[in-house]
Amino acid sequence: MITMKLHKGGLTGPVFTCDFCGGTITDAADANATWTPKDGEREGDSIPFRVICKDCDRGRAGGRCWQQLDHFLVYLEHNSNFDRTKAIQGVNGLARLA
Ligand SMILES: [Zn+2]
Repeated sequence: MITMKLHKGGLTGPVFTCDFCGGTITDAADANATWTPKDGEREGDSIPFRVICKDCDRGRAGGRCWQQLDHFLVYLEHNSNFDRTKAIQGVNGLARLA
């Protein structure tokens, strides 16, 4: 899931946390976005997903779809028409809030 986290210096910023262990995802390549397909899915359907760190995702039952979280974010940027350069211009004090 995405949560707001209070960091050093009183800054608050969004982070991904694992939907199983609650750990903060600090490297998008170390987590997966997963979802379970449903029978009868049709174009345009919305399907909820979970973010799971790879430690928790190892050995879980099959039958799920997944994307490595960094790849998922690339698709999300594309599907949201996200303009990174324009967005960064509107952010003050962009910092890694680990
Ligand atoms: Zn986890």
